[in-house]
Amino acid sequence: MTTNTDDCLFCRIVKGEIPCAKVYEDEYVFAFLDIAPFKEGHTLLILKEHSNTVLDVNPNHMQYVLKAIQKIAPAVMEATHAQGFHVLQNNFAAAGQTVFHTHWHIIPRSEDDTLSLWAQGAYTDNGTMGAMARVISQNIIQ
Ligand SMILES: [Zn+2]
Repeated sequence: MTTNTDDCLFCRIVKGEIPCAKVYEDEYVFAFLDIAPFKEGHTLLILKEHSNTVLDVNPNHMQYVLKAIQKIAPAVMEATHAQGFHVLQNNFAAAGQTVFHTHWHIIPRSEDDTLSLWAQGAYTDNGTMGAMARVISQNIIQ
């Protein structure tokens, strides 16, 4: 993982060292088109302050992420004639994160596209589900 922002692709994009198709910028956030989009208009949103994953994002800056989503997502939908959108955020390689500067994907969706995120599974029984909920609860650091 990158901790030196000089080596971080997205920090270098914010600094203007690497070109991008920018769609929005303010004091805290920066948004640009994904170069490998699910479909046209697929936008990446980042905080300018470097973090590796959502686990080390400054919580005080999350409001700026939400405000930017509320501005950008309707614009993406309008530009792409989408009927919906995803806000998707991957953490660690096992979850598909390839650039270790925390980023949110804003992905336009239409009723006739083919993206499939995951097949819905099921717990074998309510006891298994309850046990999992208890283990997760016990591992939450207060
Ligand atoms: Zn970075």
